[in-house]
Amino acid sequence: MNIFLSLLLWLNGLTLIDSDKRCIENKSLMGEYIVGEKVIVACNENIKVLKQSRDDVIKHEYIHYIYEKRQIKKTILPPKFLNYFIREYLPSDEVLFVLLHENDYSNDEELEARLFAKFPLIVLFFL
Ligand SMILES: [Zn+2]
Repeated sequence: MNIFLSLLLWLNGLTLIDSDKRCIENKSLMGEYIVGEKVIVACNENIKVLKQSRDDVIKHEYIHYIYEKRQIKKTILPPKFLNYFIREYLPSDEVLFVLLHENDYSNDEELEARLFAKFPLIVLFFL
């Protein structure tokens, strides 16, 4: 794992767990942020099989932690910018997947977390 990503987790008092039963039960699950516990789970086996970046998965789950930390039910980016970035940088099949699988309320948060996982790590230090 990138040393700055380790540092970011440490500064925020987050614990990283390598795989748990949820990863075994759901082979398409790559990671999870456990609300209220400050724990990020990285499903290493699933990540490997799905050929994803473990660091990007952890960055994604970190954004879910940021939502909990901020305690406001709003996206980090203003809707106008968020929509622009989603259109420009997220593949349309990924957007469609989220729209079909998440409930309306969490759509924007999930898309934004996927977006931030693609941003340079330094950005996450300022959230
Ligand atoms: Zn997510």
